[in-house]
Amino acid sequence: ADLAELVASRIIEVPDFPKPGIIFKDLTPLFADGPAFRQVIDGIVAHYGPGSFDTVAGIEARGFVIAAAIAYATGVGVVPVRKGGKLPRETHRASYELEYGEAALEVHIDAFLPGQRVLVVDDVLATGGTAAATLDLVERAGGTVVGFTVLLELSFLPGRERIAPREVHALLAA
Ligand code: IMP
Repeated sequence: ADLAELVASRIIEVPDFPKPGIIFKDLTPLFADGPAFRQVIDGIVAHYGPGSFDTVAGIEARGFVIAAAIAYATGVGVVPVRKGGKLPRETHRASYELEYGEAALEVHIDAFLPGQRVLVVDDVLATGGTAAATLDLVERAGGTVVGFTVLLELSFLPGRERIAPREVHALLAA
């Protein structure tokens, strides 16, 4: 089965969420469908190749779901990249601009061994602010980013350019 089509078929578009004019892509139906979710996870693992990363970093909160499944499937660990103020110990912190105001992401300073190969995952790449901040954090924490993958890339937004020259692998670009 074609993974892009599979992802597309399990997305529900929600107009005017979280605010007027935005069409939110709800991926919870994909997560809820066991066989579809498994195909998606297996597809990501096959793309990079098992053995090509030492750990998986997931971006709060939907990235955790994907990261945990990839980690379990490949026998590696999982590292949470969390919203500011949630992690209990010393962190690296990256602030980034939102449409209104600022947000911050954090990772524990000892989350990665030096040079550990890290696969970074999230559900959706939109403007790329979240991804850029996360990739920066992983590198500051000593990890080597081997890939960034999302289920859905919103290709009318400049997320891909924002993280260049690093690559993004998207199961579906729409
Ligand atoms: P960005 O920082 O603008 O690229 O936004 C990406 C972050 O916001 C990711 O962590 C996504 O989970 C979330 N996000 C943005 N737009 C959507 C959407 O349409 N559906 C689901 N999540 C979204």
